[in-house]
Amino acid sequence: MKIFYSFEKLNAALNKRRQDKKRIGFVPTMGALHMGHLSLIKQAARENNTVVVSIFVNPAQFGPKEDMKKYPRPLKNDLSLCRRSGVDFIFLPDSKSMYPRPYSTFVNVEGLNEVLCGSVRPGHFRGVATVVAKLLNIVRPDVLYLGQKDAQQAVIIARMINDLNFPVRVKVMPTIRENDGLALSSRNAYLSGKERNDAVVLSKALLLAQTLIDNGQRQADRIISRMKQLISKKRSARIDYAGIVDLENLMPLKKIKPGCLIALAVKIGKTRLIDNVVVNQGRFSKQRKPCPFKYV
Ligand code: AMP
Repeated sequence: MKIFYSFEKLNAALNKRRQDKKRIGFVPTMGALHMGHLSLIKQAARENNTVVVSIFVNPAQFGPKEDMKKYPRPLKNDLSLCRRSGVDFIFLPDSKSMYPRPYSTFVNVEGLNEVLCGSVRPGHFRGVATVVAKLLNIVRPDVLYLGQKDAQQAVIIARMINDLNFPVRVKVMPTIRENDGLALSSRNAYLSGKERNDAVVLSKALLLAQTLIDNGQRQADRIISRMKQLISKKRSARIDYAGIVDLENLMPLKKIKPGCLIALAVKIGKTRLIDNVVVNQGRFSKQRKPCPFKYV
């Protein structure tokens, strides 16, 4: 496994791979890697000859009140996980090289940016889309691997790729969870023992929604209010949003339809967690295949 700090050297190494007709799979991350990231990396290793992972805590996607400095950075452990999971190249840029001064260009995926997480984290997805666009230009992969855990992010990036004609395919892999259903996240490390127990309420609420749908409920507002009731039973929980939306345009739906997205953001104590399911995708434990995102 080779580590690159500069675009130029990474580019030279990747050009050589491209000349040798090697397929390149790319997994962008912010580090603090866990089994969720590793599932993307392993899928990339199965389907490509060269796997590139970037680790970059992107300042452009943190709001002024969000503590980017606190974001975990266990680099040594991340590198050893990557080494054991079949990564060929690690890209570790710094902020100065990603956002040289003066810097003026940002990508705004209009309409998808402002809803769900975008409504509570203004500017967040502008930062995400911008950094992914830059990374795609630097790495020029054949396939980009993303996690369904960040479903809105995946929808926004897929739209950007379509709109701006990036020559790359996207694969959105299912959310990896703890045994009790909690979606793995680098932010779970912030939870106290009690909060960790309470955090399982996100996946419980999504399972409740699925059960209601299985039993014939089609009214989105009824389902949302049952989810909110369940979550509110935990005193540490504060709901940012609970939404049922169309997976293509992220607009709220009145009635459930196959393939729609049920998404949650809940603060447990001070830690903001997100989770989601796609209706009719099957229960958590059965999810192995890439998600049926429409235009991916
Ligand atoms: P991050 O490091 O949080 O920016 O995440 C990097 C990639 O890993 C994103 O595409 C995430 O959606 C994905 N990811 C994060 N957590 C999970 C998880 N529990 N299961 C699957 N993918 C995940």
